Amino acid sequence: APLLPGETLSGEIRLDRVAKAFGTTRALQDVSLVAAPGRFVVLLGPSGCGKSTLLRVLAGLEAPAAGQVFLNGRDAVALPPAARGIAMVFQSYALFPHLSVAENIVFGLRARGTPKAERAARLARTAEMMGLSGLLDRRPAQLSGGQQQRVALARAVVAQAPICLMDEPLSNLDAKLRAEMRREIRALQQRLGITMVYVTHDQAEAMSMADQVVLMRDGRIEQDATPAELYARPATAFAASFIGTPPMSLLRLVPGAQGAEVAGAPGFTVAPSGTAGATLGIRPEEVAPTDGAGLPVRVLAAEFLGAETVLACAVGDGAEAMQARIPGHHALPAGTALRLRLPPALHLFDATTGRRLP
Ligand code: ATP
Repeated sequence: APLLPGETLSGEIRLDRVAKAFGTTRALQDVSLVAAPGRFVVLLGPSGCGKSTLLRVLAGLEAPAAGQVFLNGRDAVALPPAARGIAMVFQSYALFPHLSVAENIVFGLRARGTPKAERAARLARTAEMMGLSGLLDRRPAQLSGGQQQRVALARAVVAQAPICLMDEPLSNLDAKLRAEMRREIRALQQRLGITMVYVTHDQAEAMSMADQVVLMRDGRIEQDATPAELYARPATAFAASFIGTPPMSLLRLVPGAQGAEVAGAPGFTVAPSGTAGATLGIRPEEVAPTDGAGLPVRVLAAEFLGAETVLACAVGDGAEAMQARIPGHHALPAGTALRLRLPPALHLFDATTGRRLP
C-alpha cells in the first residue's frame, strides 16, 4: 500500500544538494531548496537548464546521483512515484484517447484500487469544481484545448495529493486561453491549499503565478526569491536579464573624469569611480526622456504597444545598447537624439562573476 491509511501528508518539499548527470551533461548540480506547504513554486529558466529534470527527480521518474529529497516530511529517494503523495500534470496532458473524460479522470484511482463508490463521489466533486460535469462522456478528441487541459488538471486534483507537479502545462494553448488558465490554476491551488511546483520558461507566467520563483541556469539555482524580490533585487546579471518585458538593459561602465561612465558616453557620470569595470543594469521602465542632465542615446527603433512605446536605443557613440519603456505613443524616427534620466537606485553587477554588487 503506497500511503499509510489515515496518514496526513504535510505538503512540504525539501531538496538538499541534489545532483544528476546524463553522460557528461550535468543536468542538476548542488540543488538545494525548500518549499513550505501551500506554496506555489515556479521553476523558471531557459531551455536545457534542468527544470524538467528537477521535476522528474521530485516525481521519482529520475533518481538523483547525489543529494537528498524529502517530500511530505519523508525521505523520498527510495519511494516509487505512486508512494510519494504527489500528482503530476504533463505538457502533453497524456490523456488516453480511447477513454471517456470520466474514465480519464479516475484512471489513477482505479489503478490504485480505490473503491467504486468513492471513485464516483470524488469524480463528481472534481468534475463540478473544474466545470467538466457536462463533458464526462466525451472522448478527449471531442474537447477544445482548454477543456483537455482542464481534464488533465482534474486527474491531478482527484488524486487529492498534497503536492502537485506541473511541467509547462499551458504551452499548447493560445495566448488568451493561457492567461485564463494561469488564473484558474493559481485559484485552484489556493483553494485546495496544495504545494505546487510548476515548470515554465515564460517569466511572465512565473511572475504572475508564483509565491516563490526558483530561477535556474546550467543545472544550478541562480536565485530563489519571491517575484517582487527577483524583480527589485536580481542577484546576478543573468537574473536581471531574464526578468522584465523587455528585460533589464546591461551596460558596461568605464572610468571617466568624475566617476564611472557608460562606455561610449563620456561626460555623464552615472556611478562612483570605484564601480568602473562593473556592469550597470537599467530597467527600461525606470528611465524617462529629460531636457536636463541625462544619458545621451540615439533611437534605433520605436515600437508602439498601445499604452506605451518601447524604444531600442544606442548609447552615446553606439558602443552599448539599451531599451526604454515610455508611457504613451511616441512616433520617434530612427536617429532621434534623446537624453534619458536614470533612476536614483542603480543595479550594479560584477563584470566577471555577474554577482550583484552591494
Ligand atoms: P526545456 O525547457 O527545454 O524542457 P529544461 O530546463 O527542462 O529544458 P532538462 O530537460 O531538465 O531542461 O534538461 C537538462 C539537461 O539535461 C539538458 O542539457 C538536456 O539535454 C539533458 N537531458 C535531459 N534529459 C536527458 C536524458 N534523458 N538523456 C540525456 N540528456 C538529457
